[in-house]
Amino acid sequence: MAKIARFRGRDGAVQYGVLENDTLRVIEGDLFGAWRTTDVTVPLAQVKLLAPVDPPNIIAIGLNYRAHATESGAPFPERPVIFLKATTAVCGPDDAIVLPKMAPNEVDYECELGIIIGKTARHVPVETALDYVLGYTCAHDVSARDCQLRLDVQWARGKSFDTFAPIGPWIETELDPDNAPLRTRLNGVVMQESTTADLIFSCPQLISYLSECMTLLPGTVIMTGTPSGVGMARKPPVYLKPGDVVEIEVDGIGTLRNTVVAEE
Ligand code: MG
Repeated sequence: MAKIARFRGRDGAVQYGVLENDTLRVIEGDLFGAWRTTDVTVPLAQVKLLAPVDPPNIIAIGLNYRAHATESGAPFPERPVIFLKATTAVCGPDDAIVLPKMAPNEVDYECELGIIIGKTARHVPVETALDYVLGYTCAHDVSARDCQLRLDVQWARGKSFDTFAPIGPWIETELDPDNAPLRTRLNGVVMQESTTADLIFSCPQLISYLSECMTLLPGTVIMTGTPSGVGMARKPPVYLKPGDVVEIEVDGIGTLRNTVVAEE
């Protein structure tokens, strides 16, 4: 069981470390190949945690919880609904989510379990799909609903503004991805609460299906879908505004916290 964080230390170097209480034990080598822990430790309080990977692709799944499909007025999908988020949207723990000047008014939160692929996967059967996983992280599929649902035909813009893909705070290598409770807190209030046991397509099914379609490279992040309780489905709707604090929590991993600001 290990929590592996990517961080920038006081000397500015980007490193990986294994979390041990309030310190990080620095890793030497390639996280996606051979690596080992060293004798060097750094206090967690003295580092800036970064997004745990710099992904070659972010693949996201829509409408993958029954209750969320229902609140969205959509039928349950017969196969996974796949879309991509730009990798330039990635940000890390405590980074700001920026409300874009061109679409600031309907920005919504979505808590998700994020899968981080550990080794190249192509045509992988469901039975061995989890062998290709490095670990799991908290993922936030920030979404500008006006762009996603009304203004554009495709979801690319609404899902890909800079800072719209916070991930972190670290990678948990040991987690049961089919039974992980997760939630969103907005300014301390629980807005989404569910468990990945309610996923329509499970993590192994998603990895297998996606690997039939494209090569899943090491570091690829798969956002597995969000449960019910999103802001757009509330009456009245709740959208993010400057000063909001959003926490995405997955039990067994931790809490990914970001504040919301307006674009300058
Ligand atoms: Mg989503």
